[in-house]
Amino acid sequence: MPKAILTLNAGSSSIKFSLYELGSGVQRLISHGQIEGIGEAPRFLARAPDGAVLESYAWPHHAASHEEFLQRLLAWVTSHLGDEALVAVGHRVVHGGALFHRPVRIDQDVLGALEKLVPLAPLHQPHNLAAIKALSRLRPGLLQVACFDTAFHRDMPAVAERLPLPRLYTDAGMRRYGFHGISYEYLAGRLRVLAPTLAKGRVIMAHLGNGASLCAMWDGQSIDTTMSFTALDGLMMGTRCGSIDAGVVLYLQEAYGLDAAAVGHMLYHDCGLLGVSGVSNDMRALLESEDPRAREAIDLFVYRIVKEIGALTSALGGLDALVFSAGIGEHAASIRSEICDALTWLGVECDEVANDRHETLISSTRSAVRVLVVATDEEAMIAEHTAQLMRDISPPPTVNPSFA
Ligand code: ADP
Repeated sequence: MPKAILTLNAGSSSIKFSLYELGSGVQRLISHGQIEGIGEAPRFLARAPDGAVLESYAWPHHAASHEEFLQRLLAWVTSHLGDEALVAVGHRVVHGGALFHRPVRIDQDVLGALEKLVPLAPLHQPHNLAAIKALSRLRPGLLQVACFDTAFHRDMPAVAERLPLPRLYTDAGMRRYGFHGISYEYLAGRLRVLAPTLAKGRVIMAHLGNGASLCAMWDGQSIDTTMSFTALDGLMMGTRCGSIDAGVVLYLQEAYGLDAAAVGHMLYHDCGLLGVSGVSNDMRALLESEDPRAREAIDLFVYRIVKEIGALTSALGGLDALVFSAGIGEHAASIRSEICDALTWLGVECDEVANDRHETLISSTRSAVRVLVVATDEEAMIAEHTAQLMRDISPPPTVNPSFA
């Protein structure tokens, strides 16, 4: 019977999952899906790799717990693959802090360390950990692996990591960590396959989804990135503000009497595309909207990306390739086109036909910088790490030389 790995990306309103057949090389996707509408009308949906619906279930009540959701998922895995098939679960964990540089097997000590990082990633970390805890209650012996969004950036140069704060704070671990690392690691691997020479050069990857960031890579290594101590920094996002004058935070407290929690809630949930447009945090909705504030929000989104690309190009000392990825990067041709137009000074020239067709290479033959669209797949990366960790902790039995 085939063995399987489950990957989980547990968020506030959904738990996304993928199921892979454990193999010796690349893991084969068996199914993917999600539990969506958590807190409102929760629904379980499992699909085959081609998108066909394999199972759908709606909970009769809105307040089902993480444990109930995951119980349903495990029951479905068992009914689909048999009792013994599931051998490990790989989790996306947003923050690994200074401690975790690579994927790790989860035990009580690891869980304790990850709990301490909740205040640094309040939008994601509590949900990531809730899924881990629920699973360890449901399947106490099951191997669980944490893969971190911060880990890919752990070898950034010291100067890119340092925050200009007094040593008291930086010595205590306040530094620029960076996020979206699972996606960037996957994209770096894809670029090595698609364009090996470019992958060795100076590349900016743009992960533009609800959360958005840029990563400057040299030879596939992160040398700087726009998110930093928390996932609030850098680009303007769906509901997050991105980089903002620290004085604004002080002023909101002093002039508006907001406490730290209220300011935090606003900066994470009410800013970005949603805050500026007053219409939506969703790029598709903004592109379709006739409200002039939607256009203002898009203009600001693009402007800040272009500005940060300029900064990261300086950090790299030039630019060989720009890679677009994630929901907006992969699907919003008009946003890619606006960004490329604003980078003409860098020698970027977009091939509009290729861009409208969402082809992999969207720069013209004259462009000094290659521009690519590459789909990210964080789940595949998590599955690969989980399989690798399984191999590391249980190496194949060695053959007794006398019988060889
Ligand atoms: P998350 O960070 O939640 O994983 P995604 O990577 O799925 O986000 O990206 C979500 C964003 O991508 C949304 O703003 C959505 O509107 C945008 N998006 C998805 N498809 C399209 C499209 N065809 N055109 C424009 N924007 C799109």
